[in-house]
This record gives sequence, C-alpha cells and structure tokens, in this order.
Amino acid sequence: MTGELQLWFDPAKCLIAGEWVAPQAGQVLPLIDPSTGQEIGAIARGQQGDIAAAVAAAEAARHGPWGRLSAAERGRILLTLSRMVAARVDDLARIEAMDVGKPLKQARADAVALARYCEFYGGAADKLHGQTIPYMDGYTVYTLREPHGVTGHIVPWNYPMQIIGRSVGAALAAGNTCVLKPAEDACLTALAFADMAKAAGLPDGVLNVVPGLGAEAGVALCQHPGVHHISFTGSVQTGVQVQMAAARNVVPVTLELGGKSPQVVFDDADLDAALPFLVNAGIQNAGQTCSASSRILVQRGVYDRVVAAMAARYQGLQVGPALADLDVGPLISRKQQAIVSGFLDQGQDLEIVGQGQLVNAPNGGNFVRPTLFAGVAPTHVLARDEIFGPVQVVIPFDDEDEAVAIANGTDYGLVASIWCRDGARQMRLARKIRAGQVFINNYGAGGGVELPFGGMGKSGHGREKGFEALYGFSVLKTVAAYHG
Ligand code: NAD
Repeated sequence: MTGELQLWFDPAKCLIAGEWVAPQAGQVLPLIDPSTGQEIGAIARGQQGDIAAAVAAAEAARHGPWGRLSAAERGRILLTLSRMVAARVDDLARIEAMDVGKPLKQARADAVALARYCEFYGGAADKLHGQTIPYMDGYTVYTLREPHGVTGHIVPWNYPMQIIGRSVGAALAAGNTCVLKPAEDACLTALAFADMAKAAGLPDGVLNVVPGLGAEAGVALCQHPGVHHISFTGSVQTGVQVQMAAARNVVPVTLELGGKSPQVVFDDADLDAALPFLVNAGIQNAGQTCSASSRILVQRGVYDRVVAAMAARYQGLQVGPALADLDVGPLISRKQQAIVSGFLDQGQDLEIVGQGQLVNAPNGGNFVRPTLFAGVAPTHVLARDEIFGPVQVVIPFDDEDEAVAIANGTDYGLVASIWCRDGARQMRLARKIRAGQVFINNYGAGGGVELPFGGMGKSGHGREKGFEALYGFSVLKTVAAYHG
C-alpha cells in the first residue's frame, strides 16, 4: 500500500456556513505523517476571525430551517450520515492512519464507531423528552428539553472520529448547531465528516469546522460570547483553561480529561480471559488513549504468572508504520515521543520485564518500544502520572483494601476493571473504586457507544456517550400553567 494521501476536500480550508473557505489570515500549518516524519500536505490555520464567522453561521443556522425540523427529521439526517460514513470506512481509516499514525485496523474501528454514533444518536433524537410533574391543584407543570444553541467542540488528536461522533452526534440530535475545532495534529477526518454531513442533508451552518492551533482557534472558540455550551476533550491543563474561559461567559462545559486507569486482578480471576485485555487496553493506539489501562494491580498469589504472561505478549508486539497495520504505530508527534521517552528515562530504576520490537520503522517516524515494568511502587511517578504512550506498570497487592487504596491513589478516576470470580467482591469494588466506568471481568477501553462515559476527579466532569449525553447537550425548561 503506497503512502499517497487521497482527499476529496481541501484540508487548507475551513467549512463555514456550508462553504469551503480559506482562513481569513491566509495561513496554513504543515500536515505531518507520524509514521515517516514527512510533510504530506497543509491544513488551515484558522484564527479568531474564522471562529467568529463560524459562530455567526451556527447562530444563523439555529434560527433557520434546522430550528424548525422535528426531532425525527434531525434523526433521519444523522441516520443518512451514518450510512454514508459506513460506506466510506476504508477511505476514512486510511486518511486517519496517515494523519495520526494509527494502524489501519484501529483506524477502521474508529470509523465504524463514528457510523455507529450517528446511528445511535439518529435513533435517539426523537426519544428525548420532558416530563409532567404533579403540582398544586389548578396547575399543569411540564418540562421541555431544549437545545443550548451554539455548541463548541474541541477535540484532541488521539480518537478524532470517535470523539466527534459522541459529541457532535449527540449535540445535533438534541437540536444544537456546532462549531468544531479539531486538533492541529488531526483534522482530516473532521473535515471529511463535515463534508459528508453536508451531503447527507445537514443544513448549511449547522456544523462548521475550523482547524487551527489551540492557542489561537481553540482559545477564540472558548472565549466567544456567542457559544452556549463547550465540550472539551484533552489534557487536564487545557481543560482548566477552557473551564475558566467558559466561566467568564457563564456557559456549561463538559470536560473529558486524562486517566491512569487500573485493572485489578485477584487470585481467583479467570486469567485466560483477563490476559488479552490486560495488555491490549494499555497498548491500543500506542497507549494514547484517555481510558488506557496503564496500571495493572495483581494479587500476589497470581502475580508471577500474570507478569510472565504479559511479558511474553510484550516480547511479541510489533511496532511499525500505520499502513503496515502492526500491533502498535508511531506516536502522534515528536513532542509526544519526547514526553514518553522522558517517562521511560524516569523508569531506569525499575525492572523492565517486556518490550516490543520495531519492524521496518522509518527513521523519521515517532516510534517508541512498548514497555512493561513490574514490581512498581504505587507512589512511583510511572504509577501516578498519565504517560499517554505504550507503557504499563504492574503493581502487586495483598488484599482487597490495599487494592482499593492503590486503585484510588491517583488524581484521576476515568475507568477501572475488576477481574475476579467472587460476586460479592465484584459488587463491593464496583462501588468503592473511584471511576466513571467500572468493568467487571472485561475492559472496554474506547468502546461502548451506548455507555455513559466521563470522569471523576481530574478526569473531568459531565457525561458523554449513551443516551445520558443528550441531557448534557440540552437544557431543561419548566413550564407551570395555572388553569384553575
Ligand atoms: P490538549 O489539551 O493539548 O489539546 C486538546 C485540544 O485542545 C486540541 O484541539 C487543542 O488544539 C486544543 N487546545 C489546546 N490549548 C487550548 C486552549 N488554551 N484553549 C482551547 N483549546 C485548546 O490535549 P492533547 O495533547 O491533544 O490530548 C492529550 C490529552 O487529552 C491527554 O491528557 C488525554 O488523556 C486527554 N484525552 C482525554 C480523553 C477523554 O475522553 N477523557 C480523550 C482523549 C484525550
């Protein structure tokens, strides 16, 4: 398979009010293939003026035909879009593989998930409704679920298609209009998706896309007083800035931030079932997954066996260019490669029990070898900080209380899993572990369109995915009618 990028739209333009337009300042950013380090094109460097135009288009669109569509009609557009995305899964996967370095089968899974999000929210659009509330004699009281209006969507580079599907899909189903600011390292599938949405019948201006830098287009979107809700997925540091900007305009924010998610393996666990999940949940997308399981807590009775099996799997992991479709691709950027390498340096005092191998990896690519550390103290920096690379630590524990203390011993609380056969223990830990999602005898990193998802602690707040997201992307109005 050759490394030529084939696009049916111009990535150096923004999509605003249904038109492909060059950024007002006429500037572009380089498009780098993470597998080779080669520049393969240019993307728009949208700035404040472009964001202002996009917000104006979204504001106009919510008062246009979109605002008059029934919920069922909005849903039908999303269902049409779902079918269009499903028909182009291979094209989208290839574009994503070259843009973010994701191995093809993982990029393909993201495109399939994007289609599924559109299907789910297309079907859900006309099921979102208010309630009647018993009140005093002579009153009828009911609630309405209304769209916020213009919603801003700031998306990171690690799962562009999945995150656009879950946030833009839900926002559109609830009747909002959208301004989407994809990551500067990953905007191609966002533009492709918006182009398909236009072809699917989404009225002009309902979905606008402005690629650009976080410090320029991202800041401008968060600060714009015409934005009524912000959905942000990214780092804790940026999330704090986004929330502060939103606070100045007093608008609600959903923050999906990082994680240090544990899998807790007890002596009575079905190890044959657990082992594939233990490693895959850590190395999927080269570990650049908010819900990556980067900490494996293992009870001492099975500790040696689990470490040996995980180490053997690591020795067999193959790392190479995205289009070679191996187990692990490159990291997104030189910067991310340097961050992960810095963490590996901090692990020099630890025992490395398994490492993957580079296979025909071009010199210019952002590759690191997946690395498994064992016998790690829960207080070690590698066991506490989010690394966002293919690195896992194994931590031994003696009993249930110690396991809970270690599992809850970081700033984060995104996902956790419990591997054991004792049903009472499963139920106890599901309550005691601080995480937005707890899996019992499985681990659903990145999956589960239907399942509400979001963090506790510094992993963020608000819930996306599932039907729950529709509550976040709508606002409740109470109507109290006195009729005597
Ligand atoms: P990032 O915070 O640097 O960037 C995320 C997005 O925010 C990008 O589109 C960027 O351009 C934009 N941005 C940057 N600065 C901004 C600012 N000041 N104002 C507004 N927008 C700004 O994060 P990243 O490096 O792209 O992604 C990695 C981080 O994201 C990791 O910490 C990871 O855990 C987290 N993440 C979380 C989830 C989740 O669902 N919880 C999903 C993916 C990634």
